[in-house]
Amino acid sequence: MTTKDIIGKTEQFVLKTYGRKPLAFENGNGVNLTDIEGNVYLDFASGLGVNALGYAHPLVSSLIKKQADLVIHTSNLYHIPSQALLAEKICSTCFGERVFFCNSGTEAVEGALKFARKWGKKFSNPKIDFIAFKNSFHGRTLGALSATMQEKYQKSFEPLVPGFFEAVFNDIDSVKKVTTDKTAAIIIEPLQGEGGVSFADSKFMKALEKLCREQDILLIVDEVQCGMARTGKLHAHTHFDITPDIMVLAKPLAGGLPIGATVVGPRVWPEMKPGDHASTFGGNHFITGVACGVFDLLSDPSFVQSVAEKGEYLRTELLNLMKKYPSIREIRGKGLLVGALMDFPASEAVEYFQKERILICAAGQHVVRFIPPLIVSMNDIDRVLDTFDLFLARRA
Ligand code: PLP
Repeated sequence: MTTKDIIGKTEQFVLKTYGRKPLAFENGNGVNLTDIEGNVYLDFASGLGVNALGYAHPLVSSLIKKQADLVIHTSNLYHIPSQALLAEKICSTCFGERVFFCNSGTEAVEGALKFARKWGKKFSNPKIDFIAFKNSFHGRTLGALSATMQEKYQKSFEPLVPGFFEAVFNDIDSVKKVTTDKTAAIIIEPLQGEGGVSFADSKFMKALEKLCREQDILLIVDEVQCGMARTGKLHAHTHFDITPDIMVLAKPLAGGLPIGATVVGPRVWPEMKPGDHASTFGGNHFITGVACGVFDLLSDPSFVQSVAEKGEYLRTELLNLMKKYPSIREIRGKGLLVGALMDFPASEAVEYFQKERILICAAGQHVVRFIPPLIVSMNDIDRVLDTFDLFLARRA
């Protein structure tokens, strides 16, 4: 099949909920993807943050093969050795004491919201409401969508789940304004990804934690995109020295296989009882068998440190480009989730890079997002910086 054939079949048979680039990839290796015509692309989009270990990583490939020959699925009617092991690994790195496994980021957010609601119901005046932030992104299922404070995602699907209130990112007074004795939880991305690559302010996060403690409110951190070493720390919220009650993980956790994890701290987990929540596929042998190996790699301190160093280099060099080109308004982000706010549509840069056989993506209208596999080399980063420089010079 040619790319044209595949595009034709997609148009004819796949529900059109995506605006796709006219590219179809057949295989990948390291940080490179090869399309079906044989063209090789340097990938700085990493399947939207999923492919932290790139493509055909030897450990991921071998774990997949091994696990396929053992057992793939038995359901949560029975104990699952690799699920128990992965939960232990995750808890050993953070505040979490119990983990619920599911299949995607949005489901992991749904779990967090449900656990918070159940916790809130124990009060004589039940706490059932949520606060989320402008420009947030938490997923597409109705609960997570109700916490996704962007009109473009919500509008067609109203009425949403009631009880969600909006505050302004990095503005504690705006949070206080919508806080009531019915507030169960505040959900926040420590680094907003889809909403434009905005890193939370340290003072704000500390103030948020303080507010939650004083008012008996749960703090949920959504690290679906910014977690698992992406920001140069294993867990993004640890940049702020805060202790949340729930953390949501997903994208890179199983090396490209679908997974979600809702990590629950000591205030919440005792409230959850058998039958309260479930997922047929969640945490099955296959996925968690692979995820155990991926987790060991991603959580290795020297690996996390290498991400921090590469991220710092990328950010510093982008700041240098900003001095040269006034069309760059701001450099945002942390680690290997970095954005350049442009005074023109980010899609122009995405198209130029694509012609140069480099994949990048936008975050909103005007932010060019760099979110490469975490195994990226300095040479790869230099190639992207040189391409950006040339693009901006031609455009000036
Ligand atoms: N939360 C955040 C911060 C995300 O970036 C995303 C997806 O981009 C989600 C939740 C939803 O994840 P999924 O697409 O796996 O449902």
